[in-house]
Amino acid sequence: KIFLKTIFPVNHPENPSRITEILKNLEKNSLKELIKEISFPKDSTKLDYWIKKIHSFQHIDSLKKKNPTGEKLSRTAVHLCTRGVDKIMSGEVKNIFCLARPPGHHALNTGKDEGFCFYNHIAITAKYIQEKYKLSKILIVDWDYHHGNSTEFFFYDDPSVLFFSTHDQFAYPGTGSPLRKGVDEGLGFNINIHLPCGTEDQTIIEVFENNLIEKAKDFKPDFVLISAGFDSRENDSLGCFNITDKGFVELTKIIMNIARKTCSNRILSILEGGYNTRGSAQATIQHIRTLSNF
Ligand code: ZN
Repeated sequence: KIFLKTIFPVNHPENPSRITEILKNLEKNSLKELIKEISFPKDSTKLDYWIKKIHSFQHIDSLKKKNPTGEKLSRTAVHLCTRGVDKIMSGEVKNIFCLARPPGHHALNTGKDEGFCFYNHIAITAKYIQEKYKLSKILIVDWDYHHGNSTEFFFYDDPSVLFFSTHDQFAYPGTGSPLRKGVDEGLGFNINIHLPCGTEDQTIIEVFENNLIEKAKDFKPDFVLISAGFDSRENDSLGCFNITDKGFVELTKIIMNIARKTCSNRILSILEGGYNTRGSAQATIQHIRTLSNF
């Protein structure tokens, strides 16, 4: 319920209706039984240990002062993801979609929010899986319209995390050149694919088939994470791609296939962007429905 709080001023694209619309649609599509609410711990300072795997003390401290609500929501998203990993690792569920806001994949250590992001939930989750469960190799797939610049930044020299991102490199934040492939030992473990405005299902599906599948099978991840941003969907207010809900079903299936062959189906997906609330909700529902049928 905390995700229904407002972080930014009125009429901001990142607002609570992003969550309420998805919840409404889950009920409409008789998928309500898939919802599990996770309560927030009274003492959340334990989470600092994990947040600090990625973010600096100064960043955390500054966010608390500048935007305490945003900080709290993002902290809750971290809690949700780590509990989600626990549930997958205990065998309670095969995969999980974390319905949280705000997004996280632009969050750096600048002491302020970047592109509506406070903490990088998916990066923290990767560190959590590696340390707590001693699973070394994590595949992160990011299909948000925007480049996951923060995720790239934190794992750029790290061969234990394969980062695959499709995005429009000319949109915010202007990063994501396909020439950026990683550095030192991490060389070859950062895959950026630029897609132009108007990109349709067939194009992005082929990109996944030709640039992700084989690489992922060679990499053999122990866990797969998805930065599921739906601003890459058709009719988004901040994006210009034309991917349909069917397209997201196909992308989800491709990733599920990788997870089935490499890591006993372990997938945790987290909501990133998506600002046409109606459209994003429909795409999210199809994504969740697909994840639930493995
Ligand atoms: Zn985005």
